[in-house]
Amino acid sequence: MLSSLAKTFTDLFFPLHCFGCGQEGAIACRACLAAIPETEYQECPVCRRPYQKNGAVCRNCRKATAIDGLFVARPYRHRLLRRLVFALKYRFIDAATEPLVSLLAESIIHHPLSLPDLVIPVPLHSRRLRFRGFNQAEVLAEKLMKQLLPGEPIPVRADLLQRTRFTKPQMKTNSKSERLANLSDAFAVPIEAAGPLVGQYVWLIDDVATTGTTLDECARALKNAGAKSVWGIVIAR
Ligand SMILES: [Zn+2]
Ligand SMILES: [Zn+2]
Repeated sequence: MLSSLAKTFTDLFFPLHCFGCGQEGAIACRACLAAIPETEYQECPVCRRPYQKNGAVCRNCRKATAIDGLFVARPYRHRLLRRLVFALKYRFIDAATEPLVSLLAESIIHHPLSLPDLVIPVPLHSRRLRFRGFNQAEVLAEKLMKQLLPGEPIPVRADLLQRTRFTKPQMKTNSKSERLANLSDAFAVPIEAAGPLVGQYVWLIDDVATTGTTLDECARALKNAGAKSVWGIVIAR
């Protein structure tokens, strides 16, 4: 995070320009942001069957995944959205967080999602965390919950789930079996963290879901530790 002095300096000499239209002032201007559509319909995260309520796993796929549903706020194919997500993830741009959180919060408000007991960001391995300096999913989760419920916060618990194996980014894996092998046993609930999960309805937050394998593996670990239901909540897929 930049100190406010450093931030003022950066703003003076490197003013932000909208990734959409180039206008000066913000990384995404109001008009371009408003032009990013919501996901047209929510689908089963496993077989992609359309029109599932909030992205619930369909009846046929329940045995195939540990996750109960995946809510996707916006379509990843939208160019400005992709650029914002990329900026947040790979170029560590703070300014991308706020518009992304608003897009996610707005979509959640438009859907009848019930609020969880606990919110858990998809963890980064400690090695990647050291390199990047922050977990973008954790930043999103914190800001999202503050925006959704400023008065009565639902706890965001980054300590309840750990990434125990250093894995390749999912985008760099080739086949489905490679992806599964890459992630199997990659996540664990620390022994002392199991108690708070028992019987809980959890939101698992990430920026983007690609194949859904990461969320599935996270949900499996949380359910093994007693979580009752686990929903993935992502900005884009
Ligand atoms: Zn613009
Ligand atoms: Zn399905």
